Amino acid sequence: MSKDPIKIDAIINGEKYKVEKQEPRENPTHPDEIVGYAPVNSREDTVKAIDVARETFITWRESPMDDRVERMRKAIQKIKDQTPEIAELLSREHGKPLYDSEGEIAVSLMWMEYACDNVQEVLKNEVQEHDSGKTIISRDAIGVVSAITPWNYPLSLSTIKMAPALLAGNTMVLKPSPLAPLAVSKVCEIISDEFPPGVLNLVHGEADVGVELTSNPKVAKIAFTGGTETAKHIMKSAADTIKNMTLELGGNDAAIVLKDFDVNDERAMRRLVISNFLTAGQICMIAKRIYVDRAIYDEFVEKYIDAANKWIRVGDPFGDNVTIGPVNNQKQVEHVQNLIDDAEGKGAKVIKLGEIMDEDLFEQGYFMHPTVVLGANQDDPIVKEEQFGPTVPILSFKDEQDAIRLANDSIYGLTSSVWGKEEHAVDVAKHIQAGTTMINTAAVQGLDVRFPFGGVKQSGIGREYGDEGLLAYTDTHVINIPDDKDLPYIPE
Ligand code: NAD
Repeated sequence: MSKDPIKIDAIINGEKYKVEKQEPRENPTHPDEIVGYAPVNSREDTVKAIDVARETFITWRESPMDDRVERMRKAIQKIKDQTPEIAELLSREHGKPLYDSEGEIAVSLMWMEYACDNVQEVLKNEVQEHDSGKTIISRDAIGVVSAITPWNYPLSLSTIKMAPALLAGNTMVLKPSPLAPLAVSKVCEIISDEFPPGVLNLVHGEADVGVELTSNPKVAKIAFTGGTETAKHIMKSAADTIKNMTLELGGNDAAIVLKDFDVNDERAMRRLVISNFLTAGQICMIAKRIYVDRAIYDEFVEKYIDAANKWIRVGDPFGDNVTIGPVNNQKQVEHVQNLIDDAEGKGAKVIKLGEIMDEDLFEQGYFMHPTVVLGANQDDPIVKEEQFGPTVPILSFKDEQDAIRLANDSIYGLTSSVWGKEEHAVDVAKHIQAGTTMINTAAVQGLDVRFPFGGVKQSGIGREYGDEGLLAYTDTHVINIPDDKDLPYIPE
């Protein structure tokens, strides 16, 4: 589906902000096709956007909440109306199949609607009359929010920040990843058009723009989703001005398969395969290492491979029946392939899974043959590191204590899953260090925007989604009105 490349612009103060320097975004399915061009903004452009956002904040924070909600609902309707075009653009620039792009838009809208439905109740002033007077607890907007997002879920990871931030009365400068900047720009344009100029600003670029967004003294909060290494730079960059931060980072999520998991349950087995390979494994919360009770290991592996061979159909994101597209970029292909080669070199067995729907296309694009890796060790990079691609190691454990130890033996703690009889699985889940643990499902299949999402350990700080995800864009402001204003122990 070759088309003329589209051009997008930055948005500063409600207007398209044009710059000479443009970066092409290729189509990972056919890398010789340019899907569009995104601007490469400078630090000076970024300062302009931050200045505008800071100026606009002074009035926007005082605007009525009803008005903010109404504006956001109009934007939601427009995104709904334009879903087919946005999904198509996302699949072309990202490589994920069309159903996956539509799913991402649906989740984005679900969260934006949740935010609109609940923000007034969650952020309303709490007034307490008590034995020593009266206290008002108000949830105030923080100021200018810098939002920095990755390429894997560019729409949902941007709207997860935009909706609560703007509804709470903050202004924002958002920087998407240059590896998927186009569809998110369309969504930002729609939202920005519904709000007063300067409330939502958009800049494009790489680390230098990111450094300005995270160090500028006028920025009050950073909302970042991306890699743990990048987050370390961001924390250092923000240290001089002590900024509020929500960090959603990498994960290496364990799936523990207990002895009482029914390996003949085809639906459950397919869910597990999807939990490993959806979006070609490029999801922070995908199950990235499977630990199986050694009592059922051999049977499990056989049935897992059967299920994977049925579900995995690699091909054109617009092709019929395709479940997995290419990887988003060449660097990611190399990273994943290096991990597989390293494991194979150390004696692990690598088994190819699924069907390649079009061999010629497979050779052209950033495709990888999905694989399962057997016989790797806990300390091998394929188990220890985040692969972020279509491969998964399966290991065994001897008892539940061992399984819990192996799952927790990671610098990460984003999500995890336990597979088996429900009560038993919940018992094991309680011992896992993670922001979310899912029972008999995993990854986005177990995601619910009504509940807080985020990581422990080096997977992040703070929560998005749920009421915590709304409160995350506010400062708590206490107004205290004691009956007796003088303290008894201070002499007159
Ligand atoms: P990345 O960290 O390379 O980039 C993320 C964003 O940070 C991009 O917009 C990038 O341009 C920007 N950036 C790069 N250097 C910067 C700097 N010095 N200062 C400020 N910004 C900078 O991540 P990625 O490769 O785009 O995404 C993949 C990673 O994101 C994986 O580790 C994945 O697990 C993680 N992720 C986490 C979640 C979550 O919710 N926890 C969700 C999706 C992805």
